[in-house]
Amino acid sequence: MESKLYQNTKKTPPRSSKKFMNFPMVPRVVFGKGSFNQLGDILMPKRVHSEAPFIFLVDDVFENSGLERKIPLIFNDQIIFVSAEEEPKTYQVDALVNKIKKDFSEPPSGIVGIGGGTLLDLAKAVSILLTNSGCAADYQGWDLVGKPSIYHVGIPTISGTGAEVSRTTVLLGPERKLGINSDYTTFDQVVLDPELLNNVPKDQWFYTGMDCFIHCIESLNGTYLNAFSQSYGEKALELCKEVYLGDLSESESREKLMMASWHGGMSIAYSQVGVAHAMSYGLGFVLGVKHGMGNCLVFQHLSEFYPEGVCLFNRMKEKHGIEFPTGVCAGLTDAELDTMISIALSLEPLWENALGKNWKNIITPGKLKAIYKKI
Ligand code: NAD
Ligand code: ZN
Repeated sequence: MESKLYQNTKKTPPRSSKKFMNFPMVPRVVFGKGSFNQLGDILMPKRVHSEAPFIFLVDDVFENSGLERKIPLIFNDQIIFVSAEEEPKTYQVDALVNKIKKDFSEPPSGIVGIGGGTLLDLAKAVSILLTNSGCAADYQGWDLVGKPSIYHVGIPTISGTGAEVSRTTVLLGPERKLGINSDYTTFDQVVLDPELLNNVPKDQWFYTGMDCFIHCIESLNGTYLNAFSQSYGEKALELCKEVYLGDLSESESREKLMMASWHGGMSIAYSQVGVAHAMSYGLGFVLGVKHGMGNCLVFQHLSEFYPEGVCLFNRMKEKHGIEFPTGVCAGLTDAELDTMISIALSLEPLWENALGKNWKNIITPGKLKAIYKKI
């Protein structure tokens, strides 16, 4: 019997050991100018009962604004304004979760994040931590979340990060800046209303939009590129060119950047980012430089890796008269620079995507130090 079984197994053709990711997508999305006004109707069927509120985590730039007045509050719903001055932290997520648990006897019906990547990531993380025990830092990594999160909705007010479609929430923790990457991170609903982008300051519009542009360049030039990523990356790149180098009306430009962000996010879902993101993570961890600006500060010096991308980037920067800060790394000690370099180098998949399996022969700590010193 045993030998028969053995023979049978031997006859079975060997299965490929390659594991394909079963990627979750946002199941519902509304798009269009004024679609924010539909939020009340969208949330109504998701209300568990009158004691289970919706919690709106809103960028404090909207305090006392027209947008605040349009938030469809009923029963004991609550708005919590949060500053986006700094990137989201794990302890901030824990504090928000504790507050919600203290303020309400019932678990909320859902969490709605309104703002840029900072608020979207906070909303995703809070919705996970409301159903999973422990602290946010426990879940930084890949597929560590065991239980489905609470219903959560993302409403971007600035475009570029792709946080509205991604399966991650990037958090600065006690030891590292790393995402909670899980199937439960992705939003259950997204509302894309280009009118919400109306008052974004120009510099910020550039930095966050360039995050999208850099996602495209890094995925399209990466060794992980595949037809899935390419199809989204090429579309996002085309839209970025129209927005930053074309001659669109403001209204068209907002709509197209919103869709560029979406496609850019989808493009990296099934591949990876590259050199600018790896180095920007180091800048963010040591100096608190925000994601979009950090990417730009690094990317300008990457013509060795992305010659065409950097050339386009410089044209966009010039066209819009954007000036970057200089001397950002000038006052750093050797120890701080070493921390930056080790954070950047720890992001191995990003380097492998950018430079291939032999990336360690191409990129050295000395090379990274020389680039950081130019910033
Ligand atoms: P942000 O949320 O940090 O906001 C940037 C600034 O723009 C803030 O001052 C904010 O108040 C302001 N702002 C936003 N909308 C505005 C509006 N309509 N009018 C006026 N001001 C407005 O910006 P971001 O660049 O979208 O997000 C950066 C964050 O996204 C980082 O924390 C980064 O780690 C994260 N990120 C996440 C992912 C992901 O997939 N989860 C991907 C990339 C980046
Ligand atoms: Zn990015």
